[in-house]
Amino acid sequence: MSSQIKYLLDETQMPEAWYNIQADLPGEMPPVLHPGTGEPIGPQDLAPLFPMALIEQEMTRERYVDIPGDVLSIYRQWRPSPLFRARRLERALGTPARIYYKYEGVSPAGSHKPNTAVAQAYYNKVEGTRKLTTETGAGQWGSALSIACQAFGLECQVFMVKVSYNQKPYRRALMEAFGAELIASPSDRTAAGRAILAKDPTCIGSLGMAISEAVELAAQAGDTHYALGSVLNHVLLHQTVIGIEAIEQFALAGDYPDVIVGCTGGGSNFAGIAFPFLGRKLRGEQDVRVIAVEPAACPTLTKGPYAYDFGDTSHLTPLLKMNTLGSTFVPPGFHSGGLRYHGMAPLVSYVLQQGLIEAQSLHQLEIFKAGITFAQAEGIMPAPEANHAVAAAIQQALRCKEENKEEAILFNLCGHGHFDMQSYIDYFAGKLQDYEYPEEEIAMALAGLPPVARQANA
Ligand SMILES: *Cc1c(COP(=O)(O)O)cnc(C)c1O
Repeated sequence: MSSQIKYLLDETQMPEAWYNIQADLPGEMPPVLHPGTGEPIGPQDLAPLFPMALIEQEMTRERYVDIPGDVLSIYRQWRPSPLFRARRLERALGTPARIYYKYEGVSPAGSHKPNTAVAQAYYNKVEGTRKLTTETGAGQWGSALSIACQAFGLECQVFMVKVSYNQKPYRRALMEAFGAELIASPSDRTAAGRAILAKDPTCIGSLGMAISEAVELAAQAGDTHYALGSVLNHVLLHQTVIGIEAIEQFALAGDYPDVIVGCTGGGSNFAGIAFPFLGRKLRGEQDVRVIAVEPAACPTLTKGPYAYDFGDTSHLTPLLKMNTLGSTFVPPGFHSGGLRYHGMAPLVSYVLQQGLIEAQSLHQLEIFKAGITFAQAEGIMPAPEANHAVAAAIQQALRCKEENKEEAILFNLCGHGHFDMQSYIDYFAGKLQDYEYPEEEIAMALAGLPPVARQANA
């Protein structure tokens, strides 16, 4: 039986800088707009929420940003993460393709999220922040930030989408073990939460609502900042450590990917694996095909228009130009909590607009089936979100089989599924169904934007 091959780098081969794709992009990224005036924002507008170092990273055009030593020394607990050649999966599929996956489930939170949580906690600590507020859906981001805050001695307050709060007691316990305070959102702690509950006392919550609550508290208190686990440029920047390592590991393997696949919720793990390779493509060094995969029930890149929209439900955040399903969108309760966000990272939306990447959506029955095929071959239980990347990689491998092509396929296995086994239980019990997102709802959500956003989109 041919077995897996593991490409490992040692600690001394850790990347020492993150890669900023803004240095290599064609054209100008559309500016971020102030929610009140509709004018481009400056660094001071973000200062109530973020430390200055992160605001600078949000705007910089420098190609490389040094990773601070204190961040590197925490990264070293699980980084560099392994790159596997999926020999047993290749066999099971009978494909001539070479399938590789980068495994981010080895982190203490079980996903890629600590790559940015550790950096964000560090810069906040250095600038004197006492406490961070945040939101979490499935619980991955809240876990990562709780661990990072604990490491740097910061307090952490997590607004957890109510439906997940009730369904995921293990995630909650993990965050509490690391000292975080958990609040089910919508809550009565904030004006945003109280307004939502006044309209609908049984509201199950959404990421957009939880963001409103966390942002509101951070904006009010001088010693409290807000941390976002995806979407923003600085988050994507921190995740590029994944792709930078993968480039080195492909050199060890004497190979290079023809196709790269990543799943997209807000776009951070996808950008993390793909942007360093895209940078090489943009600089004319080596071509690559890149595919973003999202759930058919939350089809931001494949069905959402490219437009200015808010990051949250209560319209407290700046306006971002991105693919969006509308900031009032509440996705159906399908089983990939991490992919249930109405918007998409502006940088990921921009590279799609520029024709540099492709996007595809998949239904949940297919992705769970693929996840089980993968687990049986490779011995790792993927997170439901990661199953989207697994399924698309398997599709590519089967295409190679049909066309008799020996391509190299790389996907990001962004997390393990050990806290998400209920979704597999439901899948095995035949309780999952496929949802197609109705087009009329997208049009409605966008028509409902406030005047400042409609003006920006005119
Ligand atoms: C949060 C999360 C996602 C979605 O977020 P991105 O920013 O799109 O990466 C995907 N997979 C896992 C395992 C997650 O925890």
